[in-house]
Amino acid sequence: MADIATQTEAKSLHEIIKISRMVVSSLDLDEVLQKILLYARELVETPAGSIALFDETTSTMTLHAGTGLSEEFMMRDSWHVEAGGLTRKILDQRQLFIVDDTLDVSFFNNPLALAEGIRSLIAVPLCIQDTIVGILYLDDFKPRTFDASACEKLAILASFASLSIANARLHEKTSRLASTDGLTGLFNHRQFKRILAQEVTRTQRYSSEMSLLMIDIDNFKHFNDLYGHPCGDRVLTNVARLLQDVFREADHVFRYGGEEFVVILPLSGPKDAVIAAERARDTVESLSVACHGVDHPLGVTVSVGVASLPHDADSGDALLDVADRLMYQAKNQGKNRVHTPQSIKLS
Ligand code: GH3
Ligand code: MG
Ligand code: MG
Repeated sequence: MADIATQTEAKSLHEIIKISRMVVSSLDLDEVLQKILLYARELVETPAGSIALFDETTSTMTLHAGTGLSEEFMMRDSWHVEAGGLTRKILDQRQLFIVDDTLDVSFFNNPLALAEGIRSLIAVPLCIQDTIVGILYLDDFKPRTFDASACEKLAILASFASLSIANARLHEKTSRLASTDGLTGLFNHRQFKRILAQEVTRTQRYSSEMSLLMIDIDNFKHFNDLYGHPCGDRVLTNVARLLQDVFREADHVFRYGGEEFVVILPLSGPKDAVIAAERARDTVESLSVACHGVDHPLGVTVSVGVASLPHDADSGDALLDVADRLMYQAKNQGKNRVHTPQSIKLS
């Protein structure tokens, strides 16, 4: 019959396998980290703990999981890493770090952690390759000496936490790549189709209104032909950035194709849409683009077609079609202008 020590060993091995399965199967980073934290806490028998991720560029830590800590402590969800403090020390030493009594050390000086009454702790740096991406903290409210074999297992758990962070980051990067356009960083055509369907459904369900702008750069071929493709690209990225700035946070700007952009304005009717379209047209007109090897700044203009739901169409496809036709009419009538169904009726 297996003795108690072997049984305990088998149990913790089993738990580690469970954790590893969870890490590979879930892409919800915070959920995985919370589970890892709970198990780590059980392993070293501490009443509290947290996992914070480190952003090297801003030198800040952000809390992603926590247990056994006060609401006030958890509310401080990010903090700057200060020289001379505990976090800086852990980041510098790059290995499992134990404090038996926080009152004996000068670097345990964070007011919130002191107020929380943390008296002992284990901190494990989480590394992806050679970079520290976070720290797993396990805290106790009394001074104590931690068990060495539990600390060893903790190191294994920490490597799973690092793996889940790497996994989640990769997933985030690939989904961003799949939904954005490589040149301008705007959402791509696929995202446009998805969000258009979503917004049309929402507009119709609440008997609300929405608008769509089709924006096409005028004489864009000239930029490529006269100054080269890289210069054309530069005009495109400049216009894209400007469009992103000019519309409200709730509006969605997409690169529809080549030198065409489309903007969805949720909850906006024809009046608001034409004001927004005119503002965009006007702002683009005042843009001057500097291109490498070209001795003068380049001016650029756009033609815009505007259509609104339910006023001008009864579906997403129809809305797109109306805006597209109006954009071509704006081209035919001299470019650098905004056309709406109303402007046709008036003229
Ligand atoms: P119009 O005023 O009627 O809109 O004329 P235009 O020259 O803007 O339009 P046209 O459709 O004739 O030409 C668009 C050009 O855009 C053709 C294509 O080579 C170029 N283009 C498409 N995508 C890119 C890109 O990513 N970079 C660059 N530099 N050019 C692009
Ligand atoms: Mg064009
Ligand atoms: Mg075009």
